[in-house]
Amino acid sequence: MSTDPALYPTERLTRVQEAVRKAGIDVLLLTPGPDLRYVTGYDAKQLERLTCLAVPADDDPFLVVPGLELKAAQASPAGQLNVDMIAWGELTDPFGIIADKVGRPELVALSDRMWALHVLQFAKALPAAGLRLASEVVSPLRIRKSPAEVAALREAGEAIDRVHANVPNWLKAGQTERQVGVKIAEAIFAEGHVSADFVIVGSGPNAASPHHEVSDRVIRDGDVVVVDIGGTMPSGYCSDCTRTYAVGRAPDDFRAYYEVLRRAQEAATVSVKPGVTAESVDQAARVIIDDAGYGEWFIHRTGHGIGLETHEEPYIVEGNATRLENGMAFSIEPGIYPGPHGARIEDIVVCTETGFQRMNNGPRELVIV
Ligand code: ZN
Ligand code: ZN
Ligand code: ZN
Repeated sequence: MSTDPALYPTERLTRVQEAVRKAGIDVLLLTPGPDLRYVTGYDAKQLERLTCLAVPADDDPFLVVPGLELKAAQASPAGQLNVDMIAWGELTDPFGIIADKVGRPELVALSDRMWALHVLQFAKALPAAGLRLASEVVSPLRIRKSPAEVAALREAGEAIDRVHANVPNWLKAGQTERQVGVKIAEAIFAEGHVSADFVIVGSGPNAASPHHEVSDRVIRDGDVVVVDIGGTMPSGYCSDCTRTYAVGRAPDDFRAYYEVLRRAQEAATVSVKPGVTAESVDQAARVIIDDAGYGEWFIHRTGHGIGLETHEEPYIVEGNATRLENGMAFSIEPGIYPGPHGARIEDIVVCTETGFQRMNNGPRELVIV
């Protein structure tokens, strides 16, 4: 599975530099993470030794890398860019190298996920600079996925759907959540991911805790089990999908709200089209759950954007008036958690020119295993 060159186009750096200029930022500084990968294709590791792409508004971008990382940087897609690579030795101060090259910037944007270890060093090396978040510049670009990015999300969605298709084989009374979780994690790799980013197997009362991961609780007949799983593909793009299963039989009170949840998830999904606001998609799910009397148990937003990160813009939440556009990708994952069980149904959905496309297509009807 090789990465589509259209995923990380070389002209993206030019577009980012234009965005830096438009935002009135003097220099964008990206350490390893999703923004650096988005801009250059370089999947560098975050380390105490500084790797940093500098994108000045009005000068040539350059990449500062530890000497021992230079070969890896050159071999990465960043090697195809017209970017000067400056290797630094163990006894050099890389912050000083950058400060010397960028002069006295007044406004600097730093990777959202830059370590404080590096933020404080930049603050010292560039004392006159106001600090901003790189997402101000990069997020408006990342939020609209290209056709190649949508294809990468579809590939991720198909991979995680194949894992869910096998969950009924592993989810058995007598197994612990952790034992099931180990099999799921193995399958996440086997189906093509390079990492298993999270495995939630919430059984019985744990199904009512949305971010429960796994425990040594033994799954019993009559349990409801929330399985929310995802990983990262070789492309860098993420999967995230939730299905709720019942073991042996489903409690009657559970059946009642599961059907409400399924309708809410469907209503929010079909409301997606260009021009509608992110908060209206949240509302489409919430109104159905509220009207059925379960509103107080829907305790989180309806969804989050997804791409090179599992959680990114746009957030599908009340108060977010962002209008959806072609290429925006996000989860639709309402949940109802009244205890002693709970349920969530989650698909990744992409806004298209005329409506929506689901990246996950496994059954949403209640699956009894
Ligand atoms: Zn979540
Ligand atoms: Zn999610
Ligand atoms: Zn999820």
